[in-house]
Amino acid sequence: MAAHMFSRDRKVKVLATLGPASGSPEMIEKMYKAGVDAFRMNMSHGEHAAHAKNVKSIRALEKKVGRPITVLADLQGPKLRIGTFAKAPVELKTGAKFTLDLQKTKGDAKRVNLPHREIIETLEPGHTLLLDDGKIRLEVTKTDGKSVETKVIVGGPISDRKGVNVPEVVLPVSSLTNKDRKDLTFALDQDVDWIALSFVQRPEDVAEARRLIGGKAALLSKIEKPAAINRLEEILELSDAVMVARGDLGVELLPEQVPPLQKKIVAAARKLGRPVVVATQMLESMITSPTPTRAEVSDVATAIYDGADAIMLSAESAVGDWPIEAATMMDRIAMQVESDASYAERVHFTETVPDETTADALAAASYNIARTIKTSAIVCFTKSGSTARRMARERPSVPLLVLTPDRHTARRVGLLWGAHAVVTRDVSDFEEMIAKAKRMAMRHKLGKAGSRLIVCAGVPFGTPGSTNLLHVVRLSGNELKRG
Ligand code: PGA
Ligand code: MN
Repeated sequence: MAAHMFSRDRKVKVLATLGPASGSPEMIEKMYKAGVDAFRMNMSHGEHAAHAKNVKSIRALEKKVGRPITVLADLQGPKLRIGTFAKAPVELKTGAKFTLDLQKTKGDAKRVNLPHREIIETLEPGHTLLLDDGKIRLEVTKTDGKSVETKVIVGGPISDRKGVNVPEVVLPVSSLTNKDRKDLTFALDQDVDWIALSFVQRPEDVAEARRLIGGKAALLSKIEKPAAINRLEEILELSDAVMVARGDLGVELLPEQVPPLQKKIVAAARKLGRPVVVATQMLESMITSPTPTRAEVSDVATAIYDGADAIMLSAESAVGDWPIEAATMMDRIAMQVESDASYAERVHFTETVPDETTADALAAASYNIARTIKTSAIVCFTKSGSTARRMARERPSVPLLVLTPDRHTARRVGLLWGAHAVVTRDVSDFEEMIAKAKRMAMRHKLGKAGSRLIVCAGVPFGTPGSTNLLHVVRLSGNELKRG
């Protein structure tokens, strides 16, 4: 087996976006060593060939370091855009009239093309339209099914193909565009571990994506529309994880509405035991500076204290001047927060109630055992990873060692709080299970002579969804010799 750079001494995971600043085998390895657990490919940017090359580099690195590394493909989703202008930029004056219509001709200060018939048909007087990440604000005054007349509430310069947000409306569009469908096929061919769905509005969006993914990857829903907040629980139920996508959320709503929503989404995800990623502008100033602002450091720390499973780098690692420094900073902040005596308490701020299942009861029991006696790890045998998810929801103080025969499960665990996965053959009897749990804990430095382990598994062995066994064992220190 390869050398192990195992068991980062950290619970929260770091997810970093790859891009021109980081898309080389050397940079990927450096970022991994700096603390990145999972890599995001942003399908809004870059060619398939570049993404394929990055996946290849990650898989090669995975072999080299001997531990699973997580890859997430983030689909662009239905990002609406205006057409082009005859002469850009055009200045939209506050108080003026401005029309968006279906005519393909180039725009001017009076009108521009909005090539989305369904949106034009859905808008009604009083609705707000935001252009260019919310910099320009328009209010709909008149509609006739083919065009939308607006009044400029906040003006400014506008140029070709700028983004359009329509916060108050549930758009009659699927969260999967034709481009997304092509990108999804590509990503699944690349054997990525997670698919992220952008601009989710309804549970049906998640269900549709799930059907298309067909179990080939896990599904993360990005919460960045007010409509998604209204149906958060249902969306969470259907998702394997969620992201607090603060960038678009702060455009669709007001920036000051984002912090309370972050708390709400993290708590809701914690309650349902879905991993939650906090994303966007976490270390924004590090795009151009080798050190972050104090406010950014505090923001990252807050997300960790709130109990997020993962924290994300976007432009900082994709196009910034300091991707390695940004990853290192995330790691350092996490280590500091997690060594704070109050962290263990704060991370339990959201009360989680176990489901009425044997697996959940055992997860809660494991957490209590780890609080009552000194143990060095929870070792959990799982095929689908669902037991690992239940264990992580309890936020136990000791590391969670996930043993699975399925490399896909092992890689998906990379977004899960406190979990470290190892791919290993299934066990077939009790003795073998105990021996393997001890050997793996020793090998991965999650216990030494005399320390105790909590072992969880399902009998009959190798049956998914059967977790029903909990055992506390003591390491003798000789396990590796026998292994
Ligand atoms: P994006 O998503 O970076 O793909 O836009 C995250 C966000 O909106 O915060
Ligand atoms: Mn977004």
